[in-house]
Amino acid sequence: MIALEVPSDESARLAALRALDILDTPPEPEIDAVVRLAASFCNTPYAMLVLVDADRAWTKASFGLPNAEAPRELSFCSTTILTPHAPMIVTDATRDERFADNPYVAGEPGFRFYAGVPLIAESGHAVGTLCALDTVAHAIEPYQIEALEVTARYVMMLLAKRSVEARLRLLELVAVHASDGVVIMDIDSAAAQTCRIAYVNDAFTNLTGYAEGEADRGELGRTLLDLAREQSRRVEFVGRDGEGDTIIEAVTARRKDGDIAEVEISLSPVVSRDTGRMEYVVAILRDAAERKRVLKESARTEAVALANTALQHEIVERRRAEERLSHAASHDELTGLPNRTYFKECLERSLQSVREAKRSRMSVVVFADLDRFKKINDSLGHLMGDRLLVAVAGRLRSAVRNSDVVARFAGDEFTVLFNGVRDNAEAANVVNRITRAFREPFDLETDDVFITASIGAAIVQPSYSSVDEVLRDADIAMFAAKESGRARTQFFNQELTHRFFAVADFEGSLFGALQNREFRLVYQPIVSLSRANLPLQGFEALARWRSVNGEIPPTRFIPAAEETGLIVPLGEWLLNEACQRLATWHAQVTTSGGVALPTLSVNVSAKQFVSSHFIEQVDRAIANSGVSPASLALELTETTLMENVERAQTVLASLRERGVKIHLDDFGTGYCSFGYLRRFSVDSLKIDRSFVSGGDGTAVSEGLADPDIVKAIISLAHSLRIEVIAEGIETETQRRELVALGCDAGQGYLFSRPLESSSESLERARSAMANDASWNWKAS
Ligand code: C2E
Ligand code: CA
Ligand code: CA
Repeated sequence: MIALEVPSDESARLAALRALDILDTPPEPEIDAVVRLAASFCNTPYAMLVLVDADRAWTKASFGLPNAEAPRELSFCSTTILTPHAPMIVTDATRDERFADNPYVAGEPGFRFYAGVPLIAESGHAVGTLCALDTVAHAIEPYQIEALEVTARYVMMLLAKRSVEARLRLLELVAVHASDGVVIMDIDSAAAQTCRIAYVNDAFTNLTGYAEGEADRGELGRTLLDLAREQSRRVEFVGRDGEGDTIIEAVTARRKDGDIAEVEISLSPVVSRDTGRMEYVVAILRDAAERKRVLKESARTEAVALANTALQHEIVERRRAEERLSHAASHDELTGLPNRTYFKECLERSLQSVREAKRSRMSVVVFADLDRFKKINDSLGHLMGDRLLVAVAGRLRSAVRNSDVVARFAGDEFTVLFNGVRDNAEAANVVNRITRAFREPFDLETDDVFITASIGAAIVQPSYSSVDEVLRDADIAMFAAKESGRARTQFFNQELTHRFFAVADFEGSLFGALQNREFRLVYQPIVSLSRANLPLQGFEALARWRSVNGEIPPTRFIPAAEETGLIVPLGEWLLNEACQRLATWHAQVTTSGGVALPTLSVNVSAKQFVSSHFIEQVDRAIANSGVSPASLALELTETTLMENVERAQTVLASLRERGVKIHLDDFGTGYCSFGYLRRFSVDSLKIDRSFVSGGDGTAVSEGLADPDIVKAIISLAHSLRIEVIAEGIETETQRRELVALGCDAGQGYLFSRPLESSSESLERARSAMANDASWNWKAS
């Protein structure tokens, strides 16, 4: 075990080391050269300049070895610095009990010879060593040790000079940037009769008009030199007496431009530590006139401040009076709440301070719109309606703090502005206070009335450029709340805008599109997988929209149409179109051998399905086209059915009565249970294409994307005698695996992409897929 011995002056020693500012600096050629020299005159393969830090021996330069650091307790140099005034020589480390089991001796690189001299800082502390090392044992001559010592002193001189230079640079920086004038005077002879100005800073030049080279020609320069001489004489004869060395004088002197400068001067001697003689005098000059002006200024500022306060009082008073007058203009008569104008003013101020980031707190705007207020107004009468509004206003007011602004924005719309909200959690909290305000019934003297509100909230962001934008977003959020079923609360988010604008955008163009017949259907073949020759069993009708802006995919316009409710007329149009097409085909097709006519599957969206006219729509489409209901299948998703199970069952029963088939679309992506599957008694399940090919037109795998789920769905469906159709078959391997699992039918790019409705393209599809000519298109 190697114990670390620490010199008695350790903390001062470390301070001296730090002052050198050398640790962890990169190698320097100047010092590398010194170390190389040491190796050369000691005749050793290795030499190093090592600095002994608190817990490590760090190598600044080394010869023959890479620069590295060693744990302090393992370094020879840690021992060397224990005797600052003597070198340490180890002629054979293996025979020295201090080092014999040192890993650098016992192991790599196997040092045996060491000669090190301490590096002594100006303060007298040993900060490191210059040493020579060898892996063979040998002696060292006295002249070699002496050379090492001289070299070590030289290195320390280099380092000391460098740190003095660094300090000087720092001091100069201070002087250059000081607002006081700085003058350094050089005192040459013992009698101090030769004295010159060695340095002046910019502030001095500004103060006197004299630059460095001409400073001693000016009046102030000459005064300074006189003062310096006087001071030097005093120090010379009287000796130094600490603090008293500094002279402070107030002088007036002519500037270079003739003006008079009033200056306060303080002069301090700089005495050499070695000789005790005064070497420099440093003078600091301050513009006295400027100081007086500043003093006067601050007195005036105080007076102004006093006057200001009085004025402010007056302004506040006047504003209060004005407010009382304008209350009528800014407040709602019925409820006594601030009105829209006033609210916007308050919001403007909040937005202003959010933008200027004056506060780290946030502001939140809440938009509360009463649900079905009109109905209450109509049924209970206007008087009750008014009472309700007053009651709501009171409830809202008592739900918030005094500093929050509650306003009646319009008829049955209330707005609240919360300022000083700490974070999102608190924002949710304050908005909740508004939500809770509608939990209890409102007491309207004669009646208790329940009313709910749809509540939208927006956080005031610095990115808003106007209060109208904030209000718009709160309004959008409120709208979304209302849409999601009233009595809800919704915070604004960017997604809502996209939805809002997408909807707003489509709203117009979707309606136009219906009129302009921009929609059409394409037909994707569904083939039977249970028979070897893959006969065509039917088609799925898929909607397409070629708008003036190009093709818009159904994944975009169907949700938009659902959002606006346009899906109902659009769906009806598509259903009619599909039935017409099916009728045309049936008229064009001849069958033989009892083969069924091709069927057509039509997608039905949730909104359409729950609309009260849905069954009528289906009836009309069937009646108008004259198709057999049995060759029409409606594709519904699990989610559509699960949203309202009771209603779904009734509608499904009516459809079954008519003989229309039901396909459960996108199966596996929703949450339909086995029990429901039985209750709904659908005809087919469509395995969602994410389990089949998984991709968007480029299958992620050759085989099935999720064979386990596919297998489970097929066996579940078959146990309920439900046919299985796989969607999105893209590869031959997927088809083969599906056939092996007993899947009944399938569709996908492997067989055909959706086709235009022309009978030629359909015939091409049929003949390409079905080799058995059990049915044929008639030439039309
Ligand atoms: P969906 O009902 O699941 O329709 C199947 C979708 O998969 C179609 O996309 C079809 O083109 C696509 N597809 C078919 N085979 C493959 C294949 O091998 N690989 C890949 N990657 N995709 C394949 P489409 O036509 O873009 O329709 C997307 C969705 O839009 C439909 O999904 C359906 O939810 C809705 N949609 C389409 N037409 C109508 C419609 O007339 N009414 C309603 N309500 N929704 C429709
Ligand atoms: Ca479908
Ligand atoms: Ca599907």
